[in-house]
Amino acid sequence: SQTNKKYKRVMLKISGEALMGDQGFGLHPPTVERIAREVKTVHDMGVEICMVIGGGNIFRGLQGSAQGMERTTADYMGMLATVMNALGMQAAMEDLGIHTRVISAITMNEVAEPYIRRRAVRHLEKARVCIFAAGTGNPYFTTDTAATLRANEMACEAIFKGTKVDGVYDKDPAKHADAKRYDKVTYDEVLAQHLNVMDASAIALARDNDLPIIVFSLDEPGGFKGILAGEGTYTIVK
Ligand code: UDP
Repeated sequence: SQTNKKYKRVMLKISGEALMGDQGFGLHPPTVERIAREVKTVHDMGVEICMVIGGGNIFRGLQGSAQGMERTTADYMGMLATVMNALGMQAAMEDLGIHTRVISAITMNEVAEPYIRRRAVRHLEKARVCIFAAGTGNPYFTTDTAATLRANEMACEAIFKGTKVDGVYDKDPAKHADAKRYDKVTYDEVLAQHLNVMDASAIALARDNDLPIIVFSLDEPGGFKGILAGEGTYTIVK
């Protein structure tokens, strides 16, 4: 195994698209439930879990601005999309008996808690899964940056980025049969070679705070738990 480190607190970042199943849009409840079960297996190990879910299955700011909408407005719509995903994930996890809190970077007290760092830390200590919604609360950012920011604030030991593939490749493995997976890659290699991990702001924020990023497949049943137990294939960026 690549690491025998025992993780106490982690950030799980998933894209909004991971929730849509084969539908091509929105939330697919059986898919949301499947991911919630994967998270539960790690929660059952006693690991404290933070989550950030993207919004790309509903709305992306760039997509709106490409169609003539003001970028900032489009980005706020994207942030609101992440709140819907967070509520969907919360419902699925509570169905499994896991206590959760949705914590929003944009205040909307009727649906989610406001972000108060010490309060969020306390939730984690009490074994509640914290789902951080509405990104950073600022336009021109992504949920990858939000995940990195919150992971730093919550003192997570790593960001687990769940994707469709089991790591970082030198080229798209869906298009190239000879694509090579890296076991380990540095932040600077990711930036210089434009490897598809997270956007550049997120990578730089992780690098400057020595926060490792573990890219793994969320489609692999038991994959998330396996890595925390020191098994499986993945790429670690550090
Ligand atoms: N967004 C934003 N600020 C943030 C996080 C997200 O403006 O801090 C907006 C942005 O428009 C983005 C959208 O929310 O396109 C959805 O987030 P993202 O694209 O990161 O979702 P994912 O690709 O992970 O599904």
